[in-house]
Amino acid sequence: MRISDILRVKGDQVVTVTPDATVERLLGVLAEHRIGAVVVSRDGTTVDGIVSERDVVRALAGKGAGILALPVSEIQTTQVRTVSPEAQVEDVERLMTLRRFRHVPVTADGRLAGVVSIGDVVKHRIEQLETERSTLEGYITGERT
Ligand code: AMP
Repeated sequence: MRISDILRVKGDQVVTVTPDATVERLLGVLAEHRIGAVVVSRDGTTVDGIVSERDVVRALAGKGAGILALPVSEIQTTQVRTVSPEAQVEDVERLMTLRRFRHVPVTADGRLAGVVSIGDVVKHRIEQLETERSTLEGYITGERT
């Protein structure tokens, strides 16, 4: 299965902030959308960075509450790993596990086409395992489902 199959179900909406948005504003966006990371983008279509709740926690622990007034560009990750809609879900799962991040923006022709989280990938894996299990049960009992 491909990343585009996940996006077809969850949609291609990507929450972005501009690099000059403050960290306080970022926290509002994360809370409002109930998400853990946002893509940093100047124009809403290209990826300039990514900033997650972990970046905020790390900056707060290191520099204190003063970071709330700083722009997100000060705490973002700029070397963003993106994937294409054609990527296999299993490969993206491996990437997230190895690199220890829980979000991957999806781009097509350099433009944002969605975002997948580890939660989306796990949901997909559970559904896949359930389908496989019921198919195997069908073979064993002779009842095709
Ligand atoms: P996360 O687990 O997604 O909350 O992110 C953990 C760390 O990895 C944070 O420093 C993020 O800025 C960074 N990060 C998250 N997603 C990506 C990505 N796709 N490419 C590169 N870094 C990322």
